[in-house]
Amino acid sequence: MNPIDSVLALVRPEILALAPYSSARKESSGGRVWLDANENPTTPSAALPSAALAKEGGLRLLNRYPDPQPPELVARLASLYGVTPAHLLVTRGSDEGIDLLLRAFCRAGRDAIVITPPTYGMYAVAAGIQGAAIKPAPLVRERDFALDVGAVLAAVDASVKLVFLCSPNNPTGQLLARDSVLDVVRALAGRAVVVVDEAYGEFTAEPSFAAELPRHANLVVLRTLSKAFGLAGARVGVTLAAPEVIAVLQKILAPYPIPTPVAAAALEALAPAALDAARRSARELVEHRRLLAAALARLPGIRKVWPSDANFLLVAVDDAARLMARARAAGLVLRDRSKDVPNTIRITVGTAEENDFALAVLARD
Ligand code: PMP
Repeated sequence: MNPIDSVLALVRPEILALAPYSSARKESSGGRVWLDANENPTTPSAALPSAALAKEGGLRLLNRYPDPQPPELVARLASLYGVTPAHLLVTRGSDEGIDLLLRAFCRAGRDAIVITPPTYGMYAVAAGIQGAAIKPAPLVRERDFALDVGAVLAAVDASVKLVFLCSPNNPTGQLLARDSVLDVVRALAGRAVVVVDEAYGEFTAEPSFAAELPRHANLVVLRTLSKAFGLAGARVGVTLAAPEVIAVLQKILAPYPIPTPVAAAALEALAPAALDAARRSARELVEHRRLLAAALARLPGIRKVWPSDANFLLVAVDDAARLMARARAAGLVLRDRSKDVPNTIRITVGTAEENDFALAVLARD
């Protein structure tokens, strides 16, 4: 079987056979007078910013359904990640990409995914929603949460369709070793899809696995504008994969997933000057991360600050519950990750002022 056929053989047969909903905007996007989609010919409220939005890169007025995959946005994201537009799907956050993958590949009650705890919680939640089993292959805590290739491969049996690897990993913060990830991808060719979640990729100097897509049909990469681009509120995620896999995910994606104002905001965030600003901001956050990590390590009650390649730090403390209560009382919101790694908190790198405030609160004993 050729590589892409062996990946398509992992897709749920009923999804392969499914005739997807064909929206009005998919069937026809040309023409001058649009009377096909039961839209209102105008937006009655004059206060809505329809005209301004319409100027943005040819996006539609708000009274019109949006393009299911706005071509200008897809083109800019494709150039950002160094892939062709056919390799890319825009979704409502990368969380939707995770959900689509589960629904495309896993039959309820029969199939499974592998996750590497402690890791991002949505893989297990999406599996739970879809009725897929979860097979854990834990990261090695003693080696700063390194990927255990042997454990991952041992966890893969015929029921496993997807392996989720998060790099840099949430909540621990470290990159997974590139060679280990590639070992997993190669070993599972024709057997399972490996999803590398690079939500925090901009905070490292490591190249994206997107460059590996042409060589590995069973590789999927997730990216997001929620972190380095500061657009968490816009909900823009990106799934990068072989065009045939993108076509499968497109079958189960909602008809009009990307709202026009969101596409406009994302296009602005990807304009050349804004891209430079995002890169500068990521560099600044990395510098603040270094300062925050060093200062945290000096505080009483802090046992360990793990090295981080992301925009947050995982910190082992003497008493997470007590520290959380003290922070809450001061108006400082942190994330208790003790259910993943006992007695740990996760702290996001904020502005210099926010980090100083956090340090001042945590320094009080
Ligand atoms: N992957 C990881 C590792 C994350 O930490 C997050 C957000 N917490 C996501 C994906 C989802 O991000 P979004 O849906 O905002 O793109």
